[in-house]
Amino acid sequence: MPARILDGKLFAAAVQRRAADAAAAFAAHTGRAPCLAVVLVGDNPASRSYVTAKGRACTACGIEPRQLDLPADASKDAILAVVRGLNADGAVDGILVQLPLPEPAWEEEVIEAIDPAKDVDGFHPVNAGRLLLGLPALTPCTPVGIVHLLAAAGIPTAGVHAVVIGRSRIVGRPLSVLLSQRGVDATTTLCHTKTRDLAAFTREADIVVVAAGRPHTLRAGMIKEGATVIDVGVNRVPDQSRPKGYRLVGDADYDELLGTAGAITPVPGGVGPLTIAELMANTVEAARRRAGC
Ligand code: NAD
Repeated sequence: MPARILDGKLFAAAVQRRAADAAAAFAAHTGRAPCLAVVLVGDNPASRSYVTAKGRACTACGIEPRQLDLPADASKDAILAVVRGLNADGAVDGILVQLPLPEPAWEEEVIEAIDPAKDVDGFHPVNAGRLLLGLPALTPCTPVGIVHLLAAAGIPTAGVHAVVIGRSRIVGRPLSVLLSQRGVDATTTLCHTKTRDLAAFTREADIVVVAAGRPHTLRAGMIKEGATVIDVGVNRVPDQSRPKGYRLVGDADYDELLGTAGAITPVPGGVGPLTIAELMANTVEAARRRAGC
């Protein structure tokens, strides 16, 4: 039987509707809309299109978007000054610095400069630590979106074996923590580039999440019959038949896995829309906590 296609847009729409309702309730209570400030440094086209999509989602949810553009040659001090200004601005509830920065070595310091209460990406060490300890935290949007997707799709997680491929700080590692948390209760294995015999792990898994950033990481023969495949990867591969000269593919060989997987997310249209929807939810949550409502 062909796999069930997990339509991320559908699940994201439900998350976004709830965020919009919560934003409306917040506005009724406080007299102002929640506000998300997005800092974009430079003009990387992919980053700009992500920022535009986030602004659009804000407007759709009744969240005030604020975009701050800095030139590609902005100094680290200039970026930090903008972040500190947003920290001090009482009308700003969420702050997001679009990554990568033109100078990736500054990312750590810039993220640490964000007020953890406004860190809607959930990347600040305070939020990462709270997540690890199982305390209330602003949680990275892609991992939390995946956990919510599994729940909304009725895919059991308690006691199942989940294999996560990729140990990045924004996807793989926080996801492995979330999946093993009480209430989600998966037995979790985190694989990475030094994992010996990746297929030996993925073939044992009930759920495989692939977040490696490399096409063909998960191929035919690497999963067991009926497994759920969540493909986080977004890779541009050259394709002259497309108007832009490229197409987007995930990290999993979608067509090859369709016959074996029980359920699978497509790329695009799988995990991507969930990430933005969860960002909206985090922004309203940050606003509510700050306002104590
Ligand atoms: P990253 O490059 O920071 O991390 C990739 C991880 O994968 C590393 O830990 C590496 O050890 C591991 N890895 C790479 N190749 C591997 C292999 N063959 N076997 C085992 N492990 C391997 O990437 P990231 O930021 O976590 O993003 C991963 C992918 O997800 C990228 O394609 C990115 O564009 C995409 N992404 C999508 C969304 C979304 O909303 N859809 C959000 C974030 C990231």
